[in-house]
Amino acid sequence: MKITAKQVAVSVEQSGYSSNYVQDKIAQNLRLTAILASYELDPDIRNINNEQLKALSTKLGVSNISLLVKTADDIIVARSSDPSEIGLSTRGMGFWYVAFLELFAGQQVSVDQGQSLQHFWSGPFEYSTSNPEYIDKWGYYYDGTRNYIIDPFVRSTAVSDYVKIMSPDEIIRESKAVNPGILEITGINPKTFGATSMLPDGVDPKNTKLRNRPIQYGTYTYGNVAEDKAAIREALNKGEPVTLDTKVMGKRVLKSFIPIERPEAADYVISVVMDYQAISSVIREQLFNNITTSVLLLIIFLLASYVLAGVVTRPIQDILAKVNDVAKGKFEPPLTVSSRDELGQLAQRINAMTSHLLQHTNRLGQTLEENRAVKEHLESVINGTSDAIHTVDMEGRIISTNRAFEDLYGWGAEDALVKPPYLVPATVQQQESIRLQQLKDGASLPPVETVRLKRDGSLVEVSVSSSVIRDEEGQPQSVVHVSRDMTERNRIEELLRRSEKLTTVGQLAAGVAHEIRNPLTTLRGFLQLQQEKKVLVPLHIDLMLSELDRINMIVSEFLILAKPQAVHFQQRDLRHIVGDVISLLDSQAHLFGIEFTTHFLGVPAMVHCEENQLKQVFINVIKNAIEAMPDGGTITLEHHQQDDSVVIVITDEGGGVPEEMLPKLGEPFFTNKESGTGLGLMVSQRIIQAHKGSLEIRSEYGRGAQVIIKLPEAKEPAPPAGMNIERSEDEHENQ
Ligand code: ADP
Ligand code: MG
Repeated sequence: MKITAKQVAVSVEQSGYSSNYVQDKIAQNLRLTAILASYELDPDIRNINNEQLKALSTKLGVSNISLLVKTADDIIVARSSDPSEIGLSTRGMGFWYVAFLELFAGQQVSVDQGQSLQHFWSGPFEYSTSNPEYIDKWGYYYDGTRNYIIDPFVRSTAVSDYVKIMSPDEIIRESKAVNPGILEITGINPKTFGATSMLPDGVDPKNTKLRNRPIQYGTYTYGNVAEDKAAIREALNKGEPVTLDTKVMGKRVLKSFIPIERPEAADYVISVVMDYQAISSVIREQLFNNITTSVLLLIIFLLASYVLAGVVTRPIQDILAKVNDVAKGKFEPPLTVSSRDELGQLAQRINAMTSHLLQHTNRLGQTLEENRAVKEHLESVINGTSDAIHTVDMEGRIISTNRAFEDLYGWGAEDALVKPPYLVPATVQQQESIRLQQLKDGASLPPVETVRLKRDGSLVEVSVSSSVIRDEEGQPQSVVHVSRDMTERNRIEELLRRSEKLTTVGQLAAGVAHEIRNPLTTLRGFLQLQQEKKVLVPLHIDLMLSELDRINMIVSEFLILAKPQAVHFQQRDLRHIVGDVISLLDSQAHLFGIEFTTHFLGVPAMVHCEENQLKQVFINVIKNAIEAMPDGGTITLEHHQQDDSVVIVITDEGGGVPEEMLPKLGEPFFTNKESGTGLGLMVSQRIIQAHKGSLEIRSEYGRGAQVIIKLPEAKEPAPPAGMNIERSEDEHENQ
């Protein structure tokens, strides 16, 4: 509606311009006509008649020519070729009258309307005042040479065609043809519309001029003056269209009042009336079309969404499912990669990752299996071994035990873990804590032979080897103790020692017998002498007593060796022990023509020892030396002090030991003698080890042998004089 109104307005505007152009042309023609007429007409109006004007207008080709004169207070048509014009007063004609006055005054006409030329003014197209049926165009010429205005004019017959062209009626007709809904288009002059003189059809007998007609163009058949007037005012005030939904002649119509603003002329309003029925059907149709289109679009959208969702989300769902599978540990089968976009790349990456994971998982599984096998093996070894193994944390709590632990100590695994057993007896507590500290400090210690407490409170002899388990940073975490029951071995060793001793005793018996026989022979000799002389010689008695003492010493020494002794460590001077052994073996040595040479230092060689065991050692070693020298020789015994040790070196002049035999010395029952036991060196080595010393044999075959016995020196001063010391000193004296 608005567009239609605008089109009409623009066409009115355009025709306005065209009209001005044509009016200019007509005005120029009218001026020429007036000038031509002035040549024909007498300067004085009184000499001109109407007939003359009639002939002149025919001659000059205009509808009529009128002549206007100035009276005292008016300007009137004095002569005219049109009789109906004569006598017409112009005083009430507004700007027309102003223009006439200015012409008569010899001025250029200043009125806006019409065309102002030299000595000339032409009014705009207007309905003829004398006959409103016509539209006329008037020209007024006054050059001051005569007492009247020459007024030639052309009638509507001449301009009607043009008026038709410039009228918007044609556009209105076209618009109605294109839009059947448009009932009426009306150009309304808001200034005069609804004036009291206006009739309901818009015709106003009072305002008939183009400039003041209420209806400028078009028809006004669907009018309701009061209602329309209000709407027109509202539209102009707002500057925007106002639409009324109303009923006219029993028909529902929509009336729009569209204000048209004109920059160089007064605003006006175009009203467009439309048939509601037609519009609503069009709207309905449009609505239906819109809905159909919308539904179609919706279906297309849904289909497209479904397809797109399938295309886009299926790969994502596949990937998600795959990732879930992988999380559950299911690696096969791989994703199918069907695109090269980001999702395709993602799927490829996931496949690569999955295959890596699969490889790693397999490898891990294998490693786990291997670890499990190794662990089982280790556990079976640990549980199967006869050594008791237990692990203790740094707070002293037992963390694990094996089966042998229960067998050895009597503590079940559960008990041991819950309530750590008291294994280390008070006597070796200090030794144990020193060992632990050394282990923690990084020392690796040899097994220690010690005692432990069983559950029942009894002591058990064990050899314990301990090692520290450290974490990655080297911090000690726990200590593993492996305890071996030494009871049986110690018992066998003791047995060995005893049997060796018995053998020695047996062998010694001959020597003993020989030793005893000598003093006994001496005794017998003296006694026989006393018997024959019947006198007691005191010197002989002394000698006999000394011989008896010697017999006593030999027998008691022999008994000490033969009788098993309780292990009893004491501080002894090694020189005395060696001396005792020498005197014991002296007589036997003599049998083979062997002599002893001793080089003892003047300082005591104190050791912490079991005297009888050490005697056994020296007896064994010296006996071996004697046996190695069947042809006699010298056995040298030397005493050295070396750091914190006392060293005794026994050197013989026998045949020595072949080189390949050297490592075998000390092995149980290794002997090259017919009546040998092969136990002597072994027992000796054990005894020296138990004394924390060492026994070493050096030999060059054919050049004798050297036995080096090293024992730790007892630092503490010897206990005050007592039985043992006294006895030793006695023995020393006896030597
Ligand atoms: P046995 O004396 O009963 O043979 P031992 O253990 O005392 O057993 O000695 C082992 C062996 O070592 C002897 O058989 C001997 O061959 C050798 N042996 C020991 N001491 C000497 C020595 N001083 N000179 C040469 N050989 C020796
Ligand atoms: Mg021997």
